[in-house]
Amino acid sequence: MCSYYAHAFSCKHVTYSFARFCDPAGLIQTRCNDRHIWQTIRMDEHCEECKATHYYASDSGRRRR
Ligand SMILES: [Zn+2]
Ligand SMILES: [Zn+2]
Repeated sequence: MCSYYAHAFSCKHVTYSFARFCDPAGLIQTRCNDRHIWQTIRMDEHCEECKATHYYASDSGRRRR
């Protein structure tokens, strides 16, 4: 099982980013299909997707970037 970081956002979405190969996968430098969550990182914000949606939805002029 290859290791992944899990980013847990405040909107409850979780994204995974690749961290490191397991031994068999390392030999061929190809990720296997098994994900092992190595570390979960709590993000104190919404994920990119929700941010985008949120800005649209709640945008009454105040938070325009
Ligand atoms: Zn693996
Ligand atoms: Zn989200």
